[in-house]
Amino acid sequence: FKWETKGSRFVIERLFEAGYEAVYVGGALRDIALGLTPKDIDIATAATPEEIEALFHRTIDVGKEHGTIIVLVGEEQLEVTTYRSESTYSDHRRPDDVTFVRSLHEDLKRRDFTMNAMAIDHRGQWIDPFDGLRHIQERTIQAVGQADERFEEDALRMIRAVRFVSTLGFTVESETQRAMQKHASLISYLAMERIKQEFDKMFRGEHLVQALHLLYETGLHRYLPASQEELPLQPFSLVQQPIEGWVLWAKYHHLTSADVAKAYKLSKKEREAIERYLTLAQEREWTLWTVYHYSLEELLFIRRLNERPETEQQLRQMKAQLPIQSKRDLAFDGKDVKRYYPNCLGENIGQLLTEIERAVVLRKVSNDTEEIIEWVNEHVYERLCTK
Ligand code: ATP
Ligand code: MG
Repeated sequence: FKWETKGSRFVIERLFEAGYEAVYVGGALRDIALGLTPKDIDIATAATPEEIEALFHRTIDVGKEHGTIIVLVGEEQLEVTTYRSESTYSDHRRPDDVTFVRSLHEDLKRRDFTMNAMAIDHRGQWIDPFDGLRHIQERTIQAVGQADERFEEDALRMIRAVRFVSTLGFTVESETQRAMQKHASLISYLAMERIKQEFDKMFRGEHLVQALHLLYETGLHRYLPASQEELPLQPFSLVQQPIEGWVLWAKYHHLTSADVAKAYKLSKKEREAIERYLTLAQEREWTLWTVYHYSLEELLFIRRLNERPETEQQLRQMKAQLPIQSKRDLAFDGKDVKRYYPNCLGENIGQLLTEIERAVVLRKVSNDTEEIIEWVNEHVYERLCTK
């Protein structure tokens, strides 16, 4: 099949020849059904993790107790997971134990939504016991089996429904949505890392506003940190980059960046992005030095979002006026410092260059090596280069 890779074909065939049923499963099948090129494709099999390891030379154990082994074929890494059923969920977030099974149907039954509970076998035959293909055609998200039970077992599925609304633009089937409303409070049992993973994907979806609307409509937001209030959604329609969804989330809740960052356990990079944009939004006056550090798209976006006094035309003009666009354009670099100011202490070089960069951007000196030297001699030499 045209979406197969050499590695995936090899793994499926090898398992099959050894007498184990093996199929393609998971999110990639949705993409195939929608006529899109799938991202990496997952393989499920009746073989146990030990049996998988015995069949392939190079494997990585990434969670044998849950049944997942990575098989390395050439440059490819393929996730191969043993069919399993999940029994009781006393904490609404993790099955109490995982049971490996030999039946594909058992494995598909424990999956979240019908569109995610399909398989394709080695001959290319679709296995679709819960009508996932039809629901994909109808663009609806529907729980496998009893929605009530499925959300009680694992509350993350409700958040996943919301993220799929954002990425696919589907709507949630009414019985499934009713169950979300009913069990909304269960999401307070979830580990924040799992919610965050789904939110990362949600923020990147094209239908984010629709997804947030669902979050509010079902009342799920009331059990999320830092979002008890229902918020106007219009600004989110602006997201579609240049900025990260988390930035809006932070701004939106009128919280300092630290609150949202802490509650959702954001990464350092995400914290820095939030910091960067909140700083921009709060800066009293946008100088050339401010404008220099952000792209025009970012400036226009933050301006609109924060009802800044600057006009679009002003910002375009300021951007066009900048004598340099980045450090690389500066007519003076580290080598020049060594050459002209050999006595300058290493620890001061960074600051010296930043001060030159700033002076050039603010047009206190033109971007010309000779003139920069003159300016340094007059303004910073004594302070930074003589101690
Ligand atoms: P994506 O394309 O974004 O990776 P995906 O559907 O593959 O979407 P994954 O998180 O990679 O999402 O999960 C792979 C598969 O595992 C899903 O398609 C689904 O069948 C199953 N699954 C994942 N999370 C759950 C869950 N919480 N409950 C039940 N089944 C789940
Ligand atoms: Mg996936």
